[in-house]
Amino acid sequence: MFDYHVHTTQSADCSTPIFDSCEAAIRAGVTEIAFTDHIEHEPADMSYGFFDYTTYMRDLEAARDRFGDQLVILAGAEVDFNTGIASQVEDFLTRHEFDFVIGSVHYGDAGTLIFPEYFQHRTMDDVMKPYLEQIQAAAETGWFDTIGHLDLPKRYRPLDHGAYDPLRYEPELIHAMTAMIGRQISFEINTSGLRQPPRTSMPGPRVVDLYVRLGGSLITIGSDSHVPETIGAGFERTFDMLELCGIDGIGSFRQRVRKTVPIRSLARSS
Ligand SMILES: [Zn+2]
Ligand SMILES: [Zn+2]
Repeated sequence: MFDYHVHTTQSADCSTPIFDSCEAAIRAGVTEIAFTDHIEHEPADMSYGFFDYTTYMRDLEAARDRFGDQLVILAGAEVDFNTGIASQVEDFLTRHEFDFVIGSVHYGDAGTLIFPEYFQHRTMDDVMKPYLEQIQAAAETGWFDTIGHLDLPKRYRPLDHGAYDPLRYEPELIHAMTAMIGRQISFEINTSGLRQPPRTSMPGPRVVDLYVRLGGSLITIGSDSHVPETIGAGFERTFDMLELCGIDGIGSFRQRVRKTVPIRSLARSS
């Protein structure tokens, strides 16, 4: 089992030390873990200026020394992206080395976090369409290995905004996915959605089905854990969902080489 989206104390919103997460991962049957702390360039964000690469790499090496015989530990990052901060993101990624980089869009226009308040004067269309354009722009940079929580706004959509139908955004999804497929960039199934609203992974099966119809096959899985208890959570359900959609392998970036490992071999080992 690979969990490719886990935060540590190098994220401002996480207080779980890396050793605790490694122990929890081993208990949960996880064999590969990518620690992906927030890299933030939006000045308003609580994580802005928080991440320290030297400390992060030192902690990661200590974790490899201690748990390396039981767990493959990848140096990852969850890099916030939008076109307004693209040059800072590019500069950061040129100066720092990682095994695995998630590109995530967390901000809407005017430097505002896509949280419930963001929907106050906006419809779902007002939020989703520009959001997916930013996802497409992230894919087009070619800087990321995978795209994080592809339909994140559904998580924060207030209930009075009605039901969420991902295929209402099929044209925007097709543009974004075509950009990913052309550059061999995957997207993740973020299982945090299964344990909190919207009670479905981000994205869910209808989006995966569309991706498969477009010829896509590269998927990573991440629990987006901020506490040890959720590492590896929701993976069995996700494997089932992916296989039903016609995806039979999960992306692995061990030693920075992208490979696809059959789901059947993972499901058996867990
Ligand atoms: Zn995120
Ligand atoms: Zn995250």
